[in-house]
Amino acid sequence: MTGPHGRPLGEEPGFGTRSVHGAAASRAGSGEIAQTPASVPIYQTSTWRFETGDEFAEVLAGNRPGYAYGRGYGNPTVEAFESLMAALERTEAAFAFSSGMSAVHAVCIASARAGDRIVASRELYGGTYSLFREVLPRYGIEVTFVDPHDIESLRHALVGAALFYCETIANPLCTVADLPLLGAACREAGVPAAVDNTFASPYLCNPVDHGFEFVVHSVTKVIAGHSDLVAGVVCSSTAGRGRIRAVALDTGGAMPPFEAWLCLRGAETLELRMERMCDNADVLARMLEARPEVEAVHYPGLPSHPHHERASKLLGRGRYGSMLSIELTGGVEAAARWCDSLRLAWIAASLGGTHTLVCHPATTTHRQMPAEVRRASGISDGLVRISAGIENAADLVADFEGAFARATE
Ligand SMILES: *Cc1c(COP(=O)(O)O)cnc(C)c1O
Repeated sequence: MTGPHGRPLGEEPGFGTRSVHGAAASRAGSGEIAQTPASVPIYQTSTWRFETGDEFAEVLAGNRPGYAYGRGYGNPTVEAFESLMAALERTEAAFAFSSGMSAVHAVCIASARAGDRIVASRELYGGTYSLFREVLPRYGIEVTFVDPHDIESLRHALVGAALFYCETIANPLCTVADLPLLGAACREAGVPAAVDNTFASPYLCNPVDHGFEFVVHSVTKVIAGHSDLVAGVVCSSTAGRGRIRAVALDTGGAMPPFEAWLCLRGAETLELRMERMCDNADVLARMLEARPEVEAVHYPGLPSHPHHERASKLLGRGRYGSMLSIELTGGVEAAARWCDSLRLAWIAASLGGTHTLVCHPATTTHRQMPAEVRRASGISDGLVRISAGIENAADLVADFEGAFARATE
């Protein structure tokens, strides 16, 4: 990473510093001094003019650096965001997408072809589960779902697989994958490993440290952080980026420049927002665990969570993420009444934004999962998922407590 004036910054700077300085903005200037704008300009263009046809051909062939066309053939605003993501995930490179799902899709298609098999954790985001179960098999790619916490059966499943796929902190029970163990098992089996790091964010975990080749994010969530866009990214080696990009060039889904600008704006404060959100999640988890109306709280920061110790080792900074889920005594009806009684927290899809959000996975985010698969993964019909925002903790506690009182009125 280089600092102002292109000078190397030496030892790796801290996360907040990288968030602010990690975007490689190009210099501009019409006079004697070349200057760098504080905000990376939005290059809102689909195409680029060349002086000669030869130059155009050379750039398209990859023989010379340059920009050619918006669908993944390069844009300075998007590249600035990609360089920022590589700095945050500590990878060589990154390729940005117009959604998290297009990023997940590209990782699968770049790694597997008809006749190949992907081994995936059964604890997955609903859209990813649906892609693996409904779409990939249509193209002759088989997906084996495994329990990521049962390492022996996983080793067995990995033999001959083209890709392993899991989530660092899984949606919605906040189980934590043992990334060092999984990464080692994949290396032993010679299987490339990919992980969805959306819930943890690069602030809490860098999966490349544990041997993962591809790190996927739904940038829509905490990285962009303000509930104003949909975007995704795959962080990888430079060679890995080449393979991901090759898929995107022909299937579409590259990130547009305005989204890249908003992502750059959002990501500058990722550390500040994560600190506050994790603090709020922790306060809410402890308060909810003490309530008689709550049967179970799933939050890796609580000593009662089955993966608390693993999470303490894997996630840095003594933080456990901004997501938690709860089961209310009284099941589905009690959960619905409590959600409807909230006044500050919103009932909404998505997560990781500045507002505290609640949702009911069985009828929303995980509706694509058959009920028996859902229950086998521990997602009860009455489960409520909470994404802690950056409001003041006291107001959130008052809202949650008030909702218990209002729900029984
Ligand atoms: C939202 C989400 C996705 C999908 O991302 P989009 O940006 O909505 O396409 C994938 N994985 C996880 C964990 C998510 O939360």
